[in-house]
Amino acid sequence: MPFAKLGLHSSIVRAVAAKGYTAPSPIQEQAIPIVLTGRDLIASAQTGTGKTAAFALPILNRLGPHQAAGPRVLVLEPTRELAAQVDESFAEFGKFTDVRRALLHGGVGYGKQRSDVRAGADIVVATVGRLMDFLQERALRLDRLEILVLDEVDRMLDMGFINDVKKIVAMCPPKRQTLFFSATVPPEIEAVARFALKDPARVSIGRQRSVNESVTHAIYPVPMHLKFPLLLALLEKTDFRSVIVFTRTKHGADKIAKKLKAEQHSVAVLHGNRSQGQRKDALLGFKEGRYEVMVATDIAARGLDVEGVTHVINYDIPGTPDDYVHRIGRTGRAAAEGDAFTLMSPDQTGEVRAIEKFINAKIPQLQLEGFDYKAKPTAPTPGEARTERDPRQRDQRSFGGGPRPQSRGRGPGPAAHPSSPYGAPARPLSATGPTPRHEPREAGAPLPGTTGGKGSGGQQRFKDRAPTPFTPKGKPGAHWQSRSGRR
Ligand code: AMP
Repeated sequence: MPFAKLGLHSSIVRAVAAKGYTAPSPIQEQAIPIVLTGRDLIASAQTGTGKTAAFALPILNRLGPHQAAGPRVLVLEPTRELAAQVDESFAEFGKFTDVRRALLHGGVGYGKQRSDVRAGADIVVATVGRLMDFLQERALRLDRLEILVLDEVDRMLDMGFINDVKKIVAMCPPKRQTLFFSATVPPEIEAVARFALKDPARVSIGRQRSVNESVTHAIYPVPMHLKFPLLLALLEKTDFRSVIVFTRTKHGADKIAKKLKAEQHSVAVLHGNRSQGQRKDALLGFKEGRYEVMVATDIAARGLDVEGVTHVINYDIPGTPDDYVHRIGRTGRAAAEGDAFTLMSPDQTGEVRAIEKFINAKIPQLQLEGFDYKAKPTAPTPGEARTERDPRQRDQRSFGGGPRPQSRGRGPGPAAHPSSPYGAPARPLSATGPTPRHEPREAGAPLPGTTGGKGSGGQQRFKDRAPTPFTPKGKPGAHWQSRSGRR
């Protein structure tokens, strides 16, 4: 079905076409007609499904021309990066309209934000903390609000924002439309939805807990002291375009980034201790292709949309199984494909099992051909030590570092075990059996360069020469149905 058939105004359909979208994604097809009627909506959709346009397009349609008197739309986002990304989407989809926007988030001065609000923003996209500042100062009023969007609500819950979110909801006029987006809707989120929404329609795209089908996963078992050498070898042998390397801690991210830079990789670092300017440069530079590798903590795991991320590498196993799903969601976005590698040290097999249980799929375990798994530890270097969990990071989460699946009503999960954040006892590597091959990919190219993938004929995926030289990324127009053109 073309966008024009969804009942959108021609100025919006033009902007969508200019963006290169030819057909609505499933979430857009379902959600847009509902939002256009003015009804409340709870949408649970996997990240990368096109949910931003699913709300931005019908909202722009409902707004019509600019009106001076105060914001009519408020979109709440959990992180600055997401807020900036959503604001940018409104700018693009609204480029043939005269609506005005204000983007409010922390880490930067108030000057421009104040003047954008004073100039009569129709749409305010904000993070919770900065919005609270504006409301407390009475620099912004919500009494003209018509549409409230609560995006990535599960993330807001995790980050401890939910009480502020409730306060903000209570300040909005009762007669409004509320749109609620959350990757998953466990009971705690349902409770927030009951508080904020009236008789909502529901849309659910994809299985909860599922990972993008366009992503190929692999676990690389590796002794702890060889993690960094294996990361380097993977980067060298992989024909990547851009890679996100996830670590559990900010400190770990800094260490890995430093060592990668020393190996001549162009590296961006994104974590919560970096200044807003550094975070912005990291993301922009990575999006533009100035950096081929971004080393990040889970701050980058949710919702961030970087076109053409070909690989995600979990240098550290994620803190919880659903963090795995979110990290992996950074690649294989829209119609593209991606690879997700996870380095697993011998004591982490239980954590991997918990991830497999959570996503209901077995992840192949592979060995990189030609890599010396028997190399002895050299003098310990900081980056090779297992990065410790940073309590400040985890403390932001209402669930602490414990296994969230149980507490979020996601089934029984693995047995509790004191030494594992996943609650599962570790088992020896040998228990994993022979190294399986990757499932063949749609393009017919299984992951090569591995002992499991011998003869699989996928040399286009791995190469035995130096790392891919940096090539600036283009901006190909995406077609939702197309699965080609990744590299
Ligand atoms: P989102 O889930 O909103 O972060 O979107 C994920 C990615 O899909 C973004 O790069 C969007 O630009 C892209 N996208 C969204 N809707 C469509 C569409 N209908 N056709 C092609 N690409 C889309």
